[in-house]
Formats: sequence, C-alpha cells, structure tokens
Amino acid sequence: MGKKVGLNEFLQRLEEEVKASDVLGLRYVVRLDGETKRMSEKGALLETIKQKALTCQLCELSKTRKNVVFGEGNSEAEIMFIGEAPGYNEDVQGRPFVGDAGKLLDKILAAMGFDRSDVYIANIIKCRPPNNRAPLPEEIMCCYPHLLRQIEIIQPKVIVPLGYVAAKTLLKTKDSMSAIRGKFFSFSNIPVLPTFHPAYLLRNPADKKKVWEDMQKLLEFLKTGKTES
Ligand code: URA
Repeated sequence: MGKKVGLNEFLQRLEEEVKASDVLGLRYVVRLDGETKRMSEKGALLETIKQKALTCQLCELSKTRKNVVFGEGNSEAEIMFIGEAPGYNEDVQGRPFVGDAGKLLDKILAAMGFDRSDVYIANIIKCRPPNNRAPLPEEIMCCYPHLLRQIEIIQPKVIVPLGYVAAKTLLKTKDSMSAIRGKFFSFSNIPVLPTFHPAYLLRNPADKKKVWEDMQKLLEFLKTGKTES
C-alpha cells in the first residue's frame, strides 16, 4: 500500500502533472469506464466524441448492435481509410476491419510500409446492419456527424474511401466505382482517393492489381503533395 496522501498534496501533484502534460501537448481524458488517460490534443478530442458515440441511439441499429465500432488508429494519421459498416466480427470486437476483409487491408498496409498504428480506420456507419445488409439512407444520415467530426479532428492529408458506399457518401457521386477509383477528388479541401473495398477484392482477386496501382498513387501524393503526375 502506498502512503496516504492529503488532499492538498494530491491536488498539487495533479496540478504539476497537468502542467507537465501541457508541455508535452497531452491532455487528461476521463473515460466513461472511469479510466483516466493522457493523450494528444487530437486523441483527447477523438476520445471525447467516441464516448458520446458509444451511447448513440439515433437509429434502429442501436437496438441490434453488440458494440459501436467507432474507429481506431493514429489520431495524427496522414491517411484515413473509410469503409462501409461493421460486419459480424467488428460488431463482436468493437473494432473496424478485423475479419477477412480486415486481414487483407492489413496486408495492403504492410505492402505500403505501414501498419494500423500509422493510419486511422473508420466506417461510414458505426453499428452493424443486421445480416450485413447495406446501410439505409437514414442510418447514414444519423451516423454522418460522427464521421464528420472524426475527419475534422484528424485532418488527414488524404482520405481513402474503401468501396462504393463510402465513396458515394463522401463524394455524392453517381459514377461507378470503376469510373472513380484511383482518381483524386476533394472533400472539405482534403484529397480523396477512392479504391475498391477489400471484401470486393476477396471476391475479385484479379482487381488487387488496380488497388495496388491506387496505393502507389497515394504514396506518390504523400511524397510530393501533388495529385497530378
Ligand atoms: N467492412 C467494412 O466496410 N468495414 C469494416 O469494419 C469491416 C468490413
């Protein structure tokens, strides 16, 4: 057992720690589960909106979900991947892209020289639609504010919508996935480079080559800052 500390001593220690964390650019965040964490400014902001999302009941999916899949990764990430919606495994674990499609996404990241801790991964909607059906327009509408805040906080250098639902939602386009993949668009002045969804690639492995071409474009953009070659 440690020595019992009086209130004043405790408060003073806390003040000193908070001062030190300010110098380091860290903030204290007290989570709903009572845990206290020290995080970067962006991490703290993300944690704050995550805690709100975890209790969201704006749509019917809140009645059938096991977990809210808020998103995860590096709050300072340059690349933000956005998928469609959690599936069975994601719902169970409360984490994005942890099933077969996620394993393929991990391989794509590794081939680019990254892992999950370098990027941020989110979905258009945060709760699993029953039987993995496509998200309904009203579900997307209810969930969109969470995603907008994530983008606003992270301010990635580039957004990669994975598949048509993510691309269509962000870009408001009716063009096909084949027509838009591998091309740069813009969302709130952030370059957007749509590519095929990893689940699509599992069904259509011949198109992996195209995703690899798209990821080469992305790496080139990160190096040069140019969206045109
Ligand atoms: N597919 C998605 O779009 N998102 C996930 O998190 C998992 C599978």
